[in-house]
Amino acid sequence: MHATLACTSHVQRRDAFRGEPWRFTSQPLPHCLLPSLELRQNCSLNEEEKMADRFFPNTMPDFVAETATAVEEEEATVAQGSEDSLMKLLSMPYATLSERLKRAALDVKESLVIETWGLPGQRVEDYTLYTGTLGTAFLLFKSYQVTNNKNDLHLCSEIVKACDSASSYSRDVTFICGRAGICALGAVVAKHTGNDQLLNYYLNQFKEIKLPKDIPNELLYGRAGFLWACLYLNKHVGEGTIPSTYIGTVVNEIMKEGRTLGVKRRCPLMFEWYGEKSWGAAHGLVGIMHVLMHLKLIPDEVEDVKGTLKYMIKNRFPSGNYPSSEEDSKRDVLVHWCHGAPGMTLALVKAAELFGDKEFLEAAVDAAEVVWNCGLLRRVGICHGISGNAYVFLSLYRLTGHAEFLYRAKAFACFLLDRAHTLMSSGHMHGGDNPYSLFEGTGGMAYLFLDMIEPTSAGFPAYEL
Ligand SMILES: [Zn+2]
Repeated sequence: MHATLACTSHVQRRDAFRGEPWRFTSQPLPHCLLPSLELRQNCSLNEEEKMADRFFPNTMPDFVAETATAVEEEEATVAQGSEDSLMKLLSMPYATLSERLKRAALDVKESLVIETWGLPGQRVEDYTLYTGTLGTAFLLFKSYQVTNNKNDLHLCSEIVKACDSASSYSRDVTFICGRAGICALGAVVAKHTGNDQLLNYYLNQFKEIKLPKDIPNELLYGRAGFLWACLYLNKHVGEGTIPSTYIGTVVNEIMKEGRTLGVKRRCPLMFEWYGEKSWGAAHGLVGIMHVLMHLKLIPDEVEDVKGTLKYMIKNRFPSGNYPSSEEDSKRDVLVHWCHGAPGMTLALVKAAELFGDKEFLEAAVDAAEVVWNCGLLRRVGICHGISGNAYVFLSLYRLTGHAEFLYRAKAFACFLLDRAHTLMSSGHMHGGDNPYSLFEGTGGMAYLFLDMIEPTSAGFPAYEL
């Protein structure tokens, strides 16, 4: 990215895509790109001084065995935020830790509801899942799934209704930033409340969504993000809710555009987003590959997806991290879900599960090692923070069943449980430009804590099905 674009956010870029003049909208939008404009630091494991500015050195042990029973009586003698308190959490019986994580998550959820929703009937300013009120609804639905608290389900439904009204004229079509997320979550929640009329309303609204001809292909604003909403509906409302023939036409568009920029036998698929051949999960190649791997592909499409992932593995940094774009092959800096090894690991795990190639699993383990060493970020969120990076280990745990990966996810979660609040209060950790949001703020941390309770069914929100 060019240095003169240092203040460029998604807001300006998105409007440029629409062919509108460069301008800011009133709606807060994702800031995934902003971290790439920060200090140019190297994630090489030898450069500890530089690393310290971007993430906390990970001094947690490689593995801590759990004790058989909790030792509650020692509680009062251990100061929170100390090495001892973190070690105590790491060695705690899993069931006891789960209860603590659940309590903390439900507290954060209450704060989020107050801060982003407040009194019912208020006007929704930002309806997106990423930074807006739909993220609160998504967290409430997760909370309902874990606790079976019907109040959360009904509040979720109210918030989705308000997001539906606020977005009725929106041209954004994806799950994370557009109408598809609102209609898809609305339909699934209506199914859970047993309201068939509302379910049909949201499904009809979903079917009204039209994809512009010049739409990009990435996850946050493009075709892949729309397809993810189709997958979500087919999984949670019923197979065939969105017909495979319709999904197939969107896949064809993605493959056609990807092959135009791709080079056969080198990197078969490639895409552009604002003139940049991004590799990341939010705006780039790996996010699109990840969604494609959840769909029915014909053999030559499968080969192109595999070939593209293999190209990325072959061209990763010596550290094991991944470039944020094709043009950015020297700056080994970002270890985020949106750019770098974490987003790549989730796709490699999916590839290993789907294709069974040893190469994908080995590359996923290598990438996860980078996340363990350089991914304890000074940010809290799931897009570019510790919460999102913890999902790397949960994903590998689901695939392999190895306790070491669950421990690493637990370590990142325990670090947050033990000291995120203090670190954010003292300014040593960034609470997100939108601090109550699902993707940038503490909403993502609460979501992770809830997912830790049943790690075998955990999934990065709005990304892993
Ligand atoms: Zn990000």
